[in-house]
Amino acid sequence: MTASTPAPATPDRTSDAPASAALFERASAVIPGGVNSPVRAFRAVGGTPRFTASARGPYLRDADGTELVDLICSWGPMILGHAHPDVLAAVRAAAEQGFSFGTPTEREVELAEEIVARVEPVEQVRLVSSGTEATMSAIRLARGFTGRPVVVKFAGHYHGHVDALLASAGSGLATFALPDTPGVTGASAADTLVVPYNDPQALADVFAQHGERIACVITEAAAGNMGVVPPAPGFTAELRRLTREHGALLVSDEVMTGFRVSRAGWYGFEGLGPEHAPDLLTFGKVMGGGFPAAAFGGRADVMAHLAPAGPVYQAGTLSGNPVATAAGLATLRGCTDDVYAAVERNARTVREAASEALSAAGVPHVVNTAGSMFSVFFTGREQVRDYDEAKQQDLGAFRAFFHAMLSRGVHLPPSAFEAWFLSAAHDEEAIGRVLDALPHAARAAAEGAGSL
Ligand SMILES: *Cc1c(COP(=O)(O)O)cnc(C)c1O
Repeated sequence: MTASTPAPATPDRTSDAPASAALFERASAVIPGGVNSPVRAFRAVGGTPRFTASARGPYLRDADGTELVDLICSWGPMILGHAHPDVLAAVRAAAEQGFSFGTPTEREVELAEEIVARVEPVEQVRLVSSGTEATMSAIRLARGFTGRPVVVKFAGHYHGHVDALLASAGSGLATFALPDTPGVTGASAADTLVVPYNDPQALADVFAQHGERIACVITEAAAGNMGVVPPAPGFTAELRRLTREHGALLVSDEVMTGFRVSRAGWYGFEGLGPEHAPDLLTFGKVMGGGFPAAAFGGRADVMAHLAPAGPVYQAGTLSGNPVATAAGLATLRGCTDDVYAAVERNARTVREAASEALSAAGVPHVVNTAGSMFSVFFTGREQVRDYDEAKQQDLGAFRAFFHAMLSRGVHLPPSAFEAWFLSAAHDEEAIGRVLDALPHAARAAAEGAGSL
């Protein structure tokens, strides 16, 4: 961070978005920090968040009526674009039939069948309402199944706000540089071991020392919550080998990658085959189509330990909610090979243009990809392979870049530690707006470098 670089003007854009600014003021009076999830705040980039009034296809319309190309896509779910006609019709039809019953429904069976058909290692699946619930339940099941206490996670991996998994959890925490979070007791964190990502030796050491007590290793199938950091070649296979050798379960968190990077998520994309199948997988985001639906599933003999079939308790009043399952089913059925090809094409176009613009403006950066997921690291490093490397970013450059994109009608995730999300609905017009904005934003980034 060079002291001689002039600081850019404070990105106080309230004048650009007076209705959002007024809403944020009201929100801040009644909602902590003015938002219902920290990633929505603009703390890392300054200014006030845009309040969305409506969304269609690749666009958000904010409270001031400004149309923005959406590169957040609800942090992943909106792979078909906003308010897709087929999903909308399914939701309308489901809502007409009632909102929630507290009895089983056919649609839950259909959604479970769709997931089982897509993801080979999933023999049985339990529906829940959020990714957090999915990972929380999966590690409870892993502990119940193995009778062991310890969960191993990787630094910078995020698995929702489960107490036991909030140690070194990337994303919001990385953005705000909180070392950990108050409110999680030593007791609930004590059985969590955090290991650097993509470091097979560190993992082998942990197993050598604690192997008998390790219930499971939970991993983001490809990390997306510290920015995108895919598993290094051979890492997933080594993870599978070590867990199997020590009788621990492998839990692959596909809440972000699932049904996004391929029909069968990262498992299908990486293509290592059944021999390397995880024991349990967790899903969310795309499978809810923008509604609260998530799931965990895997080996039938492990899933058989869940209540009421087995002793490990797990439940939910709204689990398998009929409107949410309708949205999820319509979304998954809409995720055809053409859709995946379109998302990949769009992602490639945007990430290549971003890199080109940043290079032309002399802004050091690394673009990491995991299938169609990608993120841009504002760093002088040659590569980013783990959390320590992901953290070494020029946040001043990102902040200036973010606001320059926003002022030109493109809404990026307001953090340097997030994936950029595309959908199949990002058409030539929407992508064109992104490409037009990038060179300006890259020059802004060059000016903002080192300012934070
Ligand atoms: C988003 C996410 C979660 C948490 O899902 P919520 O629905 O926000 O609770 C868990 N794991 C991963 C990998 C995620 O990306």
